[in-house]
Amino acid sequence: MRRTGNHHLTFQVPVQAAILKIAAFVFSVQGGPTTMIVNMSDGATEEQINHIIDRIREAGYQPHVTRGTERTIVAAVGSGRRHEIEALQVAPGVDNVVAIAQPFKLVSRQVKPQRSVVSVGGVPIGGEDVVVIAGPCSVESREQLLSTAHAVKKAGASLLRGGAYKPRTSPYDFQGLGEEALKILREASEETGLPIVTEVMSTEDVELICEYADMLQVGARNMQNFALLRKLATIRKPVLLKRGPSATVKEWLLAAEYLLAGGNKDVVLCERGIKTFETETRNTMDLAAVALARDLSHLPVIADPSHGTGKQSLIGAMSRAAVAVGADGLIIEVHPCPERALSDGPQSLDFAAFEKVMRGLSAPLRGVAGLVAARA
Ligand code: PEP
Ligand code: MN
Repeated sequence: MRRTGNHHLTFQVPVQAAILKIAAFVFSVQGGPTTMIVNMSDGATEEQINHIIDRIREAGYQPHVTRGTERTIVAAVGSGRRHEIEALQVAPGVDNVVAIAQPFKLVSRQVKPQRSVVSVGGVPIGGEDVVVIAGPCSVESREQLLSTAHAVKKAGASLLRGGAYKPRTSPYDFQGLGEEALKILREASEETGLPIVTEVMSTEDVELICEYADMLQVGARNMQNFALLRKLATIRKPVLLKRGPSATVKEWLLAAEYLLAGGNKDVVLCERGIKTFETETRNTMDLAAVALARDLSHLPVIADPSHGTGKQSLIGAMSRAAVAVGADGLIIEVHPCPERALSDGPQSLDFAAFEKVMRGLSAPLRGVAGLVAARA
């Protein structure tokens, strides 16, 4: 298990090994990551160490003390009140407090080291091939969607996207065609054989959308809509879970944990850009998060360079970059005439531009930078 933020763990190797042994034991016995490590500072006194030991007991954990040559660390083992241990970071003689394992369990590679493959209408995501989901931001008309479906299929896409229920920042903007759009999506799927991915915004729409779609997308704005996540945990369709614009990777994985904990293991994560101080791009596409999510979780991870950048001109480069860091797939917005699109025109590719992006993604890229090994 790789961990981040542990640069203060400067004690000697045998000490580290002892702590990891304790953590591994607790993890195997309880099946849950509950071990916290309190790193004492170099000059911590016996009295300060004893105080920490007492506080760990008071918080409902078992203290395990390891005295290294440079510093002492105290492990809090068990399942007590975690926030009380976290608060010890300001106690005298304490350098820092780290959680030895992640709070998410079922999505974690600690629980399932082998990668998951999610089948969407027969198309595997997370397997050998990089999967491309393409289509318009919104379904606007039968003609618009059918022509796009044929074009993206011809260019090599394996799944068709199209919004029927749109989360728009302004209530005055186009909100989607609802069920009419779902019917058009189904027709396009029957004509082309491409399975359908479409967004669900509300618990009320889940059943209806399940009748038409092969995969339900939870949009970025709904990543922490826990009622929606709980409902989607009970369905038998795969879920595409977008990362919230200001969500940490941990929050994103915990949102996925809701789905798995509730019984739906067919979850694909999607990085779609986060809010930063940058204004030249619509969002900042966080490719490190793609690599990190694949490192921490067995779930497939795809990238959305359309929302990730907001700019047609950057889609090709960011698609190639996402695949190079290990993305299992891409979701790309395509429109027959982006200048007329009712939503997200500036980031939508026309058919020719999409075909060019697809050509740029072909074979040699997979050999780049040890990619085959990196995807293991
Ligand atoms: C979309 O896919 O069109 C969309 C609204 O995405 P996001 O939730 O990432 O903004
Ligand atoms: Mn969009």
